[in-house]
Amino acid sequence: MAQIILHDGDLSPDVTFAGSVAVDTETMGLHLWRDRLCLVQLSAGDGVCHLVRIHPGTPAPGLAALMADPDREKIFHYARFDVAVMLRRLGVVTAPIYCTKIASRLCRTNTDAHGLRSLCKDLLGIEISKQMQSSDWGAPTLSPEQMDYAANDVLYLHRLRETLDTMLEREGRMDLARACFGFVPHRAALDVAGWADQDIFDH
Ligand code: MN
Repeated sequence: MAQIILHDGDLSPDVTFAGSVAVDTETMGLHLWRDRLCLVQLSAGDGVCHLVRIHPGTPAPGLAALMADPDREKIFHYARFDVAVMLRRLGVVTAPIYCTKIASRLCRTNTDAHGLRSLCKDLLGIEISKQMQSSDWGAPTLSPEQMDYAANDVLYLHRLRETLDTMLEREGRMDLARACFGFVPHRAALDVAGWADQDIFDH
C-alpha cells in the first residue's frame, strides 16, 4: 500500500524528489474556467504520494516552483488538462513534461484505449479503480477512499513511462513524442486563452 502524506495549502518546503515527479490534479469538474483546482498529487515513483490540498484564492508558491523547475521533469497522464488548470489557478507554466497519454497514442496504434486505467491494465497488469473520479474533491476532509484513489493516479506513471519509452524507441517515434511533450504548455496556454475547442492546426 502507498504511503500518503497530506499537505495543507502548499507543498512543504522540506520535501525533495529524486528524479522525475509524477503529477495529477483533481478539480471540481472538467471545465477549465468554472471548476476550481482542489488537489495536486505528487510522487517520485517510490510508493510515496504527496497530496497537496489547494485552497481557493490562496497561492501555492512551493508547488508552483516545482512545476516551473526547468531541471525537474513532471510526468502526467493527459498533461494538457493538468497543465492548463495549474496555469490558470497557480499562474505557472509547467515544464518540462512527459505525458503517458500522448506517448500511448504515438506507440500503441493497435488500440483506442489510452485511458490511465487501460494503460495500467495492458502494460503493467494492474487494475486501478476510477470510481472516486467524480467524487467531491472540494469537501472539507477527504475520505480514505478518495486519498487512495488520488494516490493511485500518480503511483504508476514512472513504470508506465518506462514501458512506453521502450515502445516509442521500437516504433521510432521518440523524437515526435518529445516534440509533442514540448508543445503541451503552449497547447494548455491556448486552452486558457480561449482556443480550447479548436485545433489550431486544423484546415
Ligand atoms: Mn486523477
